[in-house]
Amino acid sequence: MLDPLSLAVGAGLVGVGWACGRFGRRVPRTKKLIARCGCGHDLALHDRETGTCHAESSRRGTHGLREWIGCQCRRYTGPTPLEDVFAPPILPPES
Ligand SMILES: [Zn+2]
Ligand SMILES: [Zn+2]
Repeated sequence: MLDPLSLAVGAGLVGVGWACGRFGRRVPRTKKLIARCGCGHDLALHDRETGTCHAESSRRGTHGLREWIGCQCRRYTGPTPLEDVFAPPILPPES
C-alpha cells in the first residue's frame, strides 16, 4: 500500500539521485590552457631564447625504417599561458 508520505520520500530520493548525476558529472571549467604552437607541439618544446622547436617526429622512411626528423618550426606561434605573461619580475631585494 502506497501512502502519500512514502511517495514523497521516493520522489525526493529520485530528485537527489538526479541532482547528483547532473552536478556530479559536471566538467570543471578551470581546464588548463594547452599552449600549443602552430606546428602542433607544446610550448615547452620550444626554445625560450631562439624560439625553435626541439620536437622530433618519426616517419616511415625508405626501406620501411623509421626516420627521426626535427621539427622545422622556428618560432612559437601559439597562445602564451597567462602565468607566463604576468609572472612577476625577479627584483633585487630592497636594502
Ligand atoms: Zn612550433
Ligand atoms: Zn614543433
